[in-house]
Amino acid sequence: MGIMDSKVPKGPLAAKWTQHKNDINLVNPANKRNIDIIVVGTGLAGGSAAATLAELGYNVKTFCYQDSPRRAHSIAAQGGINAAKNYQGDGDSAYRLFYDTIKGGDYRSREANVYRLAEESTNIIDQCVAQGVPFAREYGGLLDNRSFGGVLVSRTFYAKGQTGQQLLLGAYSAMNRQINRGKIQSFNRHEMMDMVLVDGKARGIIARDLVTGKIERHSAHAVVLATGGYGNVFFLSTNAMGSNVMAAWRAHRRGAFFANPCFTQIHPTCIPVSGDHQSKLTLMSESLRNDGRIWVPKRMDDAIAIREGKLKPIQLKEEDRDYYLERRYPAFGNLVPRDVASRAAKERCDAGFGVNKTGEAVYLDFAAAIQRYGTEEALTQGIKNADDKEITRLGKAVIEAKYGNLFQMYEKIVDENPYETPMMIYPAVHYTMGGLWVDYNLQTTIEGCYCAGEANFSDHGANRLGASALMQGLADGYFVLPYTIGDYLSKDIRTGAIPTDSPEFDDAEKSVQDRLDKLMAGSGQNSVDFYHKKLGKIMWDKCGMARNAKDLQDAIDEISALRTDFWANVKIPGKAEGMNQELEKAGRVADFLELGELFAKDALTRNESCGGHFREEYQTPEGEALRDDENFKFVSAWEYKGEPKDAVLHKEELKYENIELKTRSYK
Ligand SMILES: Cc1cc2nc3c(=O)[nH]c(=O)nc-3n(C[C@H](O)[C@H](O)[C@H](O)COP(=O)(O)OP(=O)(O)OC[C@H]3O[C@@H](n4cnc5c(N)ncnc54)[C@H](O)[C@@H]3O)c2cc1C
Repeated sequence: MGIMDSKVPKGPLAAKWTQHKNDINLVNPANKRNIDIIVVGTGLAGGSAAATLAELGYNVKTFCYQDSPRRAHSIAAQGGINAAKNYQGDGDSAYRLFYDTIKGGDYRSREANVYRLAEESTNIIDQCVAQGVPFAREYGGLLDNRSFGGVLVSRTFYAKGQTGQQLLLGAYSAMNRQINRGKIQSFNRHEMMDMVLVDGKARGIIARDLVTGKIERHSAHAVVLATGGYGNVFFLSTNAMGSNVMAAWRAHRRGAFFANPCFTQIHPTCIPVSGDHQSKLTLMSESLRNDGRIWVPKRMDDAIAIREGKLKPIQLKEEDRDYYLERRYPAFGNLVPRDVASRAAKERCDAGFGVNKTGEAVYLDFAAAIQRYGTEEALTQGIKNADDKEITRLGKAVIEAKYGNLFQMYEKIVDENPYETPMMIYPAVHYTMGGLWVDYNLQTTIEGCYCAGEANFSDHGANRLGASALMQGLADGYFVLPYTIGDYLSKDIRTGAIPTDSPEFDDAEKSVQDRLDKLMAGSGQNSVDFYHKKLGKIMWDKCGMARNAKDLQDAIDEISALRTDFWANVKIPGKAEGMNQELEKAGRVADFLELGELFAKDALTRNESCGGHFREEYQTPEGEALRDDENFKFVSAWEYKGEPKDAVLHKEELKYENIELKTRSYK
């Protein structure tokens, strides 16, 4: 068996996971007490894994760079979490969720993992309800659902626009129970800087206490990385400012293969960039596409008049508007998957129909929904002959109940009232489907190093469907890792505690210290952000929503040169001993400067368009992505060999035995 054995169990698709759980080894409760597990990251994936592993009896140490686990980036998730409960009776099932996810990912994910995800999705909802997560309920008290892109059913559970926050509070309270019992030791404001391998196995990490600057050694029998995505390689994204790739990249340098780095999701509904001063972009949840209609003016002169402030969108007649998603994709309309909606917005704006000053915005309009809900509400409330004013008032109240906090957020940022005038939106970097390669057990190519949540590449292929990230993170943490990691640890019951005074820990600590010293020794004049912004611009212009071979080659050369310049000319004020946020950022940007080059190399190697990876050379006459299943039906897994240009490509061929490979169509 090669290093890239996916370890997918044999047997029929729907029986694989159950059979696997029946077959794997268990660890006796008395032995669990002698086994240590490190979980790096306490977002939904890491928090759920840590709580469950500790509940099972293992000794868990958690690490996060925030001051509390409950401040992980997962808290930002707005729209919801998918589960195939079929509460609506609209034809949903585990198979359908599986099918939608494989199709949505443009046939670039592993069947067995995705089916397991669909199966476990229903358990997640039960688990979270039991924890007290306040999911939205219908009038009768049943859990409510809404629709997200790329599906024809309503399977998204939500807690207003704060689903991530509520789920994280659930995971955090489960963690707290274990912290109180002494089963979890929680190291907040600690950053993993390296992974320690002993005899080829992950046996610990080197972490820096971000408050004191002290370098620490921590050992364990297994290490779980649940450290989130790397969208911030683009500088501007909807991710939290601190989201970064360091932990995954350090593991990559130690032997964990990095899969599909170029598969990035650009979300269609974000508040457009307003200028060079910005350091963060804001998402307007996909849930808004349930009721918002996306359009630009049909005529160029109207678009120009709007951009010049001479015409207001509400003055434009219905027949002068181009609801381009409804026009191009009548079956899914405004709820096409994100990659499709993003590219369509870019196409309209590139053609000159953008509606803000920069020409990079389209409208998301709720006027029709306000009328529809208002009319329904008037009837429900028994109001006869309601006039337009009354209908609008009632309709706005329904919209407010559904999306109130998102509308408020928009108004605060843009200073326009979205109940009165359409929102302006434009695509922005949002999620990374790529990540550390893992097998069916979520183990990386380093023995004993597991990876969960957004940090792994596992389930979403070339495009993630909305509301599926929370589902995946929680499935990994609550329901997959606790089994698969036990199987691995069953071999460690006689190992005893892992010492930290070994040569392997000495070497790893030294390499961390050397790197910090090198960063601090820089005598240049440029800030870390100077480099991060430059990197982000290369990534967005040349590796963003549309890519071509020439731009990608240029990006590789430019990022490599930028990296050299960074190490020669970056200036970090202050000292390494103690809190130094510029130093923290520098370490993260240094890794982005390596990942960015591998990203471009991966995109250049993949001579096809699929999901979020759109190569201009490979498109249909209608501008749709043109996949090449004969030559590219594989996961790219890159092995570290020094410089990114020397990385070696390994391929995991994807087998579709239960689903027919088709050209994706949402028409
Ligand atoms: C604005 C926004 C809205 C979203 N809405 C939805 C939604 O409605 N539904 C949905 O399904 N998905 C949504 N997503 C995606 C989803 O939120 C994320 O994919 C998911 O929360 C990631 O969870 P995670 O546990 O993998 O990582 P994170 O929540 O990012 O947690 C990462 C953890 O790793 C720690 N960490 C990282 N590096 C280190 C290190 N070197 N050392 C120590 N600790 C480290 C961090 O401190 C943190 O605790 C949204 C994303 C964004 C940006």
